[in-house]
Amino acid sequence: MKTLKGGEFLIKEINAEDIFIPEDFNEEQRMMADTCKDFINKEVMPKVDELDKHNPELLKKLLKQAGELGLLGISIPEEYEGFGQDFVTSMLTLEEIGRGYSFAVCFSAHTGIGTLPILYYGNSEQKKKYVTKLATGELVGAYCLTEPGAGSDANSGKTKAVLDKGGKNYILNGVKMWITNGGIADIHIVFAKIGDDKNLSAFIVESAWKGIVLGAEEEKMGIKGSSTLQIYYNDVKVPAENLLGERGGGFKIALNILNIGRMKLGIATVGASKEIITNSVIYANERKQFGTQIANFGAIKHKIAQMTILTFAGESLTYRASRNVEEATQEYIAKGQDKEKATIEGLRQFAVEAAISKIFCSEALDFVADEGVQIFGGMGYSAETTVERAYRDSRINRIFEGTNEINRMVIVGEILKRAFKGELDVLTPAKKVGKELLGIPDFGSNTTDYFELKKRTIINFKKTILMVAGAGIKEFKNKIAHEQELLMLISDMLINTYAAESTLLRVEKLSLQNKTKNLDLYKDMLDVFVYDAASKIKKYGDDAVNYFAEGNEKLGMAMGMKRFTKTEAVNTISARRRITDKIIEMNKYPF
Ligand SMILES: Cc1cc2nc3c(=O)[nH]c(=O)nc-3n(C[C@H](O)[C@H](O)[C@H](O)COP(=O)(O)OP(=O)(O)OC[C@H]3O[C@@H](n4cnc5c(N)ncnc54)[C@H](O)[C@@H]3O)c2cc1C
Repeated sequence: MKTLKGGEFLIKEINAEDIFIPEDFNEEQRMMADTCKDFINKEVMPKVDELDKHNPELLKKLLKQAGELGLLGISIPEEYEGFGQDFVTSMLTLEEIGRGYSFAVCFSAHTGIGTLPILYYGNSEQKKKYVTKLATGELVGAYCLTEPGAGSDANSGKTKAVLDKGGKNYILNGVKMWITNGGIADIHIVFAKIGDDKNLSAFIVESAWKGIVLGAEEEKMGIKGSSTLQIYYNDVKVPAENLLGERGGGFKIALNILNIGRMKLGIATVGASKEIITNSVIYANERKQFGTQIANFGAIKHKIAQMTILTFAGESLTYRASRNVEEATQEYIAKGQDKEKATIEGLRQFAVEAAISKIFCSEALDFVADEGVQIFGGMGYSAETTVERAYRDSRINRIFEGTNEINRMVIVGEILKRAFKGELDVLTPAKKVGKELLGIPDFGSNTTDYFELKKRTIINFKKTILMVAGAGIKEFKNKIAHEQELLMLISDMLINTYAAESTLLRVEKLSLQNKTKNLDLYKDMLDVFVYDAASKIKKYGDDAVNYFAEGNEKLGMAMGMKRFTKTEAVNTISARRRITDKIIEMNKYPF
């Protein structure tokens, strides 16, 4: 089986058989996901109104119940009271939890950023003491990085830890802000600088310790049922053995944990999108205007199809990347690394794909929620409906786990970093594209194969990126980091290309496996997505080129852009109608 390293999708191709698609999940994995689904349906959904009235006791009770069912320890090793499942399985279960509004945020913060720093960076005593109890829900975790003056620039935090004279305790002082689970957490992972260190260190802090003061619950736009507040640390005595990892290693911990958080947020938002689509189609099938169900109107059909296509693409790319993380982890383990280090390395390697997942799926969810409200019309604006809550709750996903602007910069920054280090050879293919631009267009063999033609289109998308990025680097050299608008455009080209390729490979694999009766509908989704992506990529590329190129170079690149984003004409209206007709028939998100 062939695999690609993180970021290599830009310069290499992979066969459909070699990627993971959600249809590959086995019975056991599906049963675990069903347990999560049942829990959300039976325990959480009936209580979302109550949760949204700020009911931390109820939130904690639900988390405990989830712990009793084993849902908090799905990916925690058995020796620490978990189920020891792989990364992809934990993603599948999180997709189901992601439907659970505020509870999903509480759950994700606890099982992700609130637990994993100790699992991955703690020593065995710390893991035995804390992870075992976090895995069962006996303890609740929170991750305390952000400060009033340090958000995106997290390493600039002012929280200080000073070793006392006896060398036994650190004395912690500072303020943390926007802390999810702040009001219910027993364990805080606090990032602070020791003395005059340049970089943060991380500490395990118990909320019961003297000197910790909780602020009032924030009044938020959405996810009102989650607990979010400021935490003040006033001369808190933290035993020296509660330093997590190395001194000064906290920022690295923070960033690496965010890589996991981003991919997990990606799949949780896919779950939320599916929930909104199902609720919207049920409503569209019931609500009548002008003597017919609104689902019969083309304007509504267009919305439902588009909501579905974006969700399908986000799901395809996130599961593809998740399995890649798992494979990379196994490779590091085979080379002799312990499981925790290997997981961190696996995730670090796929930081680009994690950022793509976070951006694509959170923006898809915002679109889906917005159109969901529109389908409900006036009722969509009423607090009585689920879409009103979904609309407010969805917005946060573009802000936390690194804002989508920061994540867009991570995507290009990581690729450039690896290129400069010689880990990712973008130069050779970029030069090839340059030569191709000067030559006569090569249309390749006369294939009529559906998937081969689509693959050519995606390869051409990659050429536009190599062309624009290559010329941009030539123009701005190491000052390109200051050209943020350009980086955002290149990032958007990369996001659309990875999403298009992942969707293509999923549909092709389904076709090879002969697993679906509805292959034509999957092809419809693929056709529409790739067709739309082509015009977006062209626009992003043109905007970039128009900024920095001049004369013949500009002319040549404009022609290249046209050539490389050329696609076959697609009857998108009919394709979208066919997709929605199936959804209307099934009365739910069906893929
Ligand atoms: C409900 C909620 C829950 C949260 N939970 C947690 C938690 O559990 N733990 C925790 O530690 N934090 C948490 N956060 C904090 C969250 O991670 C930050 O809000 C986020 O990282 C952005 O930081 P900021 O709010 O200070 O915005 P800022 O950093 O001030 O950003 C403001 C704007 O400027 C942009 N910007 C900033 N820097 C750059 C740059 N270099 N280039 C281009 N644009 C830039 C941003 O993208 C954004 O659009 C939470 C926040 C919220 C609202």
